[in-house]
Amino acid sequence: MDNKKIDISSLDIPEIAALFEELSEKSGVKLEKFRAKQVFSWLNKGVYSFDEMTNVSKAQRTVLSENCYIALPAVEKKYVSKIDGTVKYLFKLFDGECVESVFMRYEHGNTVCISTQAGCRMGCRFCASTIAGFTRNLTPSEILGQVIAASKDTGERVSNIVMMGIGEPLDNFDNVMKFLELVNCEEGLNIGYRHISLSTCGIVPKILELSEKKLPITLSISLHATNQKERENLMPIAKKYSIDELLGACRKYLEGGGKRISFEYTMIEGENDSREDAMRLAKLLSGMLCHVNLIPLNTVSGRDYRKSGKEAIANFVSILEKHGFPATVRRRLGSDIDASCGQLRASKIEAKNT
Ligand code: SAH
Repeated sequence: MDNKKIDISSLDIPEIAALFEELSEKSGVKLEKFRAKQVFSWLNKGVYSFDEMTNVSKAQRTVLSENCYIALPAVEKKYVSKIDGTVKYLFKLFDGECVESVFMRYEHGNTVCISTQAGCRMGCRFCASTIAGFTRNLTPSEILGQVIAASKDTGERVSNIVMMGIGEPLDNFDNVMKFLELVNCEEGLNIGYRHISLSTCGIVPKILELSEKKLPITLSISLHATNQKERENLMPIAKKYSIDELLGACRKYLEGGGKRISFEYTMIEGENDSREDAMRLAKLLSGMLCHVNLIPLNTVSGRDYRKSGKEAIANFVSILEKHGFPATVRRRLGSDIDASCGQLRASKIEAKNT
């Protein structure tokens, strides 16, 4: 890839229009302003080449392909669950990097779980995404492209997006914000902010920055522990930002008009799943408009944590509910294809290194 070329799919319509003015001058081929909308719409339909843009002239397409590239991820591998139709993708990016996305069918519509970075530097002990190391941030087009490519491949509309794949979205803040603008655009996928969730391990200053943007997305906080020591044990980010600071930022987020927060809590046997934990959690969250999503741990090879038993999970739910917190246990889709993220990328990198 000629890296002097412009990543056109990371641009919004006014930016494409400004680029067209520049290219018209440089090439002598006129790219009219109204074409910005046409090209944006083609890119969001999932074209891999400018030649597919049939209402754009041949001369214009040549100028575009000489100056720009289309960063739509290519399907490198695909697994379809025989149980529930969930599709797991390993997408290849222009430089050979790979990320994972999952397409899930729910009654309320199709949801795509997307990655925001190639790898992750947060180092959570139970998470597969950290194993293969961090390579780079994804561009807005690569984040958006996972949704476009999954929708194109399945032939189905996507109505919900969760940023719960590989990477820490708030560690790639600007590109994630640009992605949100693009995916929400009427001429593009037109997915409402209310149908988008952003999940974070708790980068406090970025939560506060997000709060200022006043976007009605759902903020999910990966809490996973109820005391400082245990959280530090599981999640290195807790050493930088304490539970108290994190929950303080969450309260500010809500006071600033943010929608109800969803707290994610991975249930790990003997680590964080006792009755005392449930009671401490209820105390930590007291007075907060929130929901708790319990995730029975997915076993990750190379890590010796085990998921909590059914009884421990049921007790946990009932204690939370007794304290007035709605709690749900995440249903596991695509269990036959290992749909949780990080494992495919890790095994691909391992295979390359052996
Ligand atoms: N970096 C973001 C997105 C991570 S993935 C974050 O930390 O929130 C989405 C959720 O899955 C997070 O709550 C994450 O902690 C959780 N998770 C990671 N590995 C898991 C595993 N092996 N079992 C269950 N949940 C896991």
